[in-house]
Formats: sequence, structure tokens, C-alpha cells
Amino acid sequence: MGEINGKTRVCGIFGHPVGHSFSPAMHNAAFDHLGMNWVYVPFPVRPPGLPAAVEAVRALDLAGVNVTVPHKEAAAGLMDRLSPAARLSGAVNTIVNDGGVLTGHNTDGEGFVRALEEEAGIGAATGPALILGAGGAARSVALALALSGSPEVIVANRSGDRAAGLCELIKSTGCAASVLNWPGLPERGDGDCRDWAAVLGRARLVVQTTPLGMHPREGEVPPFPFNLLNAGHVVVDLIYNPARTGFMERCRAAGARVFNGTGMLLHQGAMAFELWTGKTPPLEVMRSALERCLEVRRQKETGDRRQEEVRE
Ligand code: NAP
Repeated sequence: MGEINGKTRVCGIFGHPVGHSFSPAMHNAAFDHLGMNWVYVPFPVRPPGLPAAVEAVRALDLAGVNVTVPHKEAAAGLMDRLSPAARLSGAVNTIVNDGGVLTGHNTDGEGFVRALEEEAGIGAATGPALILGAGGAARSVALALALSGSPEVIVANRSGDRAAGLCELIKSTGCAASVLNWPGLPERGDGDCRDWAAVLGRARLVVQTTPLGMHPREGEVPPFPFNLLNAGHVVVDLIYNPARTGFMERCRAAGARVFNGTGMLLHQGAMAFELWTGKTPPLEVMRSALERCLEVRRQKETGDRRQEEVRE
């Protein structure tokens, strides 16, 4: 990192917890690479402190901040302006401070679409998409797909009412949307499988947005009719730790092309960088920093697991 002085521009991330975030490494590597007198700092902010922290963005003239769990929705209510994606999703992951005027953006969904184009070589308009889950990440991804020209988004979620709510939101963009019953629920009949076959017959893209399979619950796999997948399907699991989930392995074994959530994480950060600095983000530098952090984290977790096994 370069010298911190009176001209250093400061940005960072508000979250709780925030110590695990990979964003400082990603952004500081980019600032160093471009020789910019900027620094990115993690700020642990508890929920009651969010309004004061947002006010401090103005008071301290921060260039902007990222916002992560658990503040994304609450931050949307504290902005002067919202981007269309942030307004629609009701969540903010990036705040830009323009002379004291705070604009909330949501780069998660657009970051997903950019990663999809870069890694899988397909765009949102390629065809219908099936989303597993209906939480915050699902909302950002589904809306970005809808706004980027997807003809149809189908949502399957454990809680059907949440899936229905997300479908209404998707439909408000003019994109077709429908609910698919979450598989594996005993009270639901065989009809589900026929529905899934029809959906996977026309959807080329499947996005797994639940935390099932995320560290430390690597053994969990969402219920899914893997036998209905083929080489024509692209599957993205938003989880990036571990790099390969059980869900990804089973989709790959069924012939699908499979990607994890690292690309989305990279591109949402790259978009924030561009919003704050107005500069083209050095994508490869940011990618290397992110992959280095992920590797260190995974090695540490493997070491911790081995120590636990020895203790047992
Ligand atoms: P969230 O808002 O809490 O939503 C979680 C979703 O998963 C809900 O739809 C929930 O269903 C479902 N779910 C949770 N536990 C489940 C279970 N045991 N069985 C079935 N469904 C279950 O979380 P989120 O913020 O959307 O994050 C979800 C995942 O996306 C996390 O793994 C996160 O790390 C990842 N993510 C990745 C990126 C990236 O950049 N790659 C960005 C954001 C998030 P109900 O509605 O029924 O509760």
C-alpha cells in the first residue's frame, strides 16, 4: 500500500461481521496497481449504528462504501437517490458519495450477468432461467436477468410465498415469471417432477442461490432432479467457498457446464470500483487478489478441520 497522506481518498465496506470480507484485498490491489492514492477499509457496523455510519460517509467525505450483510435493505432507506437496480431490489450494496449526495446502487445482479457473459459466454437473453432460492441474492440476480432481456425467470424456493413475491417483482419489469414447487417436500406429489422436466426442457440457465453447501456445511446439497440436466445447461452456484460444492459436482456429473460465485463477487466489486473512481477496473489484478484470499481462507479452513479431527 502507498503512503497515506492528506490527499488519500477513503472508501470501504460496512457490515457485521466484516472481518471475513475479501473486498479490501481486491480494491487495495487495484489502487496499488493503478498508483492511486486511495485506500479501502473494512468498517464493522452493528445494525443500530448504520444511520450514523451512513451519515459519516458525508461527514468524513468518504468516496463511497460497499454495504454487506446485514445492512443491504436498511441502507436503501438512508440514500438520497437510488439506482434503478437498487430501487427495484430494495437493497444497496454500493454507496457513492457525490459531494454529500449519497446514491445507492446494487451491483450484485449486474455483476452476476457480467460474470455469466465472461465465463459461460451467454447473456441473459439466451433463454429462460431457473433460480433456486428467493432471498437477497436471488432477488438481485433474478431482477438483473429480467432487466437484461431474459424472456422468463422461474423461481423455486423452500418457502413458496417468498418465491411468489419474487415472481411479482420480476413481472413488474415486464419479464414473465412463475413459481416452481421446491422439490423434496413430502406433501407434494409426482406432478412436481413433470413440472421440473418441462422447466429444465426450456431453461438453459440454472442459478443456485441458497447457502446449502457453503462452508462449513459442505455436505448439504439442495434437492434437485440432477438427471434432467444435460450438456446444454449452464449452472451457476453463487457459493464461492468451497470452490466446488456438492451441487456443482452433481450438475457437472450430469453433463452441465458449471461455474461458482467467484465471478459474481469479482464483477460486483469491479463495478463499485468504477462507480467510485470513474476508472476502468484492472480486472485481472482484482481477480488475482480475490483468488489469493480465497486460497488462503480455504487452506486455513482445511488446517482447522484437520486439527479438529486430531482433537476428536
Ligand atoms: P438469504 O437472503 O438469507 O436467502 C437464503 C435463501 O436460501 C432463501 O431463499 C432460503 O429459503 C434458502 N434456504 C436457506 N436455507 C435453506 C435450506 N436449509 N433449505 C432450502 N432452502 C434454504 O441469503 P442471500 O443473501 O440470498 O445469500 C444466499 C447465498 O448466496 C449465500 O451462500 C451467499 O454466500 C451467496 N452470495 C454470493 C454472492 C456472490 O457474489 N457470489 C453474493 C451474494 C450472496 P427460505 O426463503 O425458505 O428461507
